[in-house]
Amino acid sequence: MKKIDITKILASYDPKNITIATVCSHSSLQIFNGAKKEGFKTLGIAVGKVKKFYDAFPLGKPDEFFTVDDYKDIPDRSAELQEKNVIVIPHGSFVEYLGPDNFLQLQLPTFGNRHVLMWESDREKERMWLEGAGIDMPQEIRNPHEIDCPVIVKYHGAKGGKGFFIAKTYEEFERRVEKDKPYSIQEFVMGTRYYLHYFYSPIQNNGYAMKKGSLQLMSMDRRDETTIDEVQRLGSIAELEELGIHPTFVVTGNIPIVMRESLLPEVFRMGEAVVEKSLELFGGLLGPFCLETVVTEDLKFKVFEISARIVAGTNPYISGSPYSEFIQPDLSTGRRIAQEIKFAVKHKQLNEILS
Ligand code: AMP
Repeated sequence: MKKIDITKILASYDPKNITIATVCSHSSLQIFNGAKKEGFKTLGIAVGKVKKFYDAFPLGKPDEFFTVDDYKDIPDRSAELQEKNVIVIPHGSFVEYLGPDNFLQLQLPTFGNRHVLMWESDREKERMWLEGAGIDMPQEIRNPHEIDCPVIVKYHGAKGGKGFFIAKTYEEFERRVEKDKPYSIQEFVMGTRYYLHYFYSPIQNNGYAMKKGSLQLMSMDRRDETTIDEVQRLGSIAELEELGIHPTFVVTGNIPIVMRESLLPEVFRMGEAVVEKSLELFGGLLGPFCLETVVTEDLKFKVFEISARIVAGTNPYISGSPYSEFIQPDLSTGRRIAQEIKFAVKHKQLNEILS
């Protein structure tokens, strides 16, 4: 989608009357709550029918619902949403269910740089970006015959880790792999997982200084994944595998966490490098993003994935996190997004944070 379209759409908007919208799922309660705190109108795009549970959460419920039969109908209804001065906040489910092509073509101003999707969803490009930024990633094993350490096999585009499995030998890999699905094989990194939630602003200088703008660390979480995170209740993984019971990596929730303070310089170094490289490669990663990491026993980070928008791991921090509390009390990532839009409206810089 060309930037010019967004400029045109924005020209028709009343900047004093912006509505913040997202699809009712994933981190929508947080996004609506944050937008309301910053004085915006909110609109929830409900697929199918409006979910009743929003009534139970008045401070997270959008002011208005906009119902569509299917995600795929959203692009066709863009004109109606434009009339409501809508700015869309994309989240993982939004992009996943709408589909990358529809998302890229959506005729609505969208928070962040949507072209990041091309770099994030293609594993080769993602590696080029992150390793190019000097980030250490788990080794990729191209030839399964060369498996000589525990590996994790990931199917491309798998939702929430579905179908991923661990193999320790070629034979084990061969027994379990579904060859008709594209996959990649990664060294299984032993250590503890930290999912780091950053916010990069190209227009505000209120954090860790960057060449342009600044970087903030909003929070961290650890994902709760079934069945791997609880499987030991039934016996050792080796015992269970003998019975044909294999652990899975399906995300069911998120657990708050803080890190040794001495690791924070490296957290910022990595965030900075990833943003600077993104500016060089494709015009920059804007707003919230997440580096998914494992910290090894020698206190080194390995980054196995990047998520270039708000992640559900920020949901435990509606009223702030042990990090965002040092920025401003009561600051969620959803609220930080709304603040960025508010600042850009005030300084006539919306074009710099939307695409
Ligand atoms: P992903 O879809 O890449 O986020 O992976 C799903 C889950 O698999 C992660 O949340 C981790 O628990 C686990 N995982 C992914 N890659 C690795 C790796 N290289 N080493 C260890 N665990 C991993």
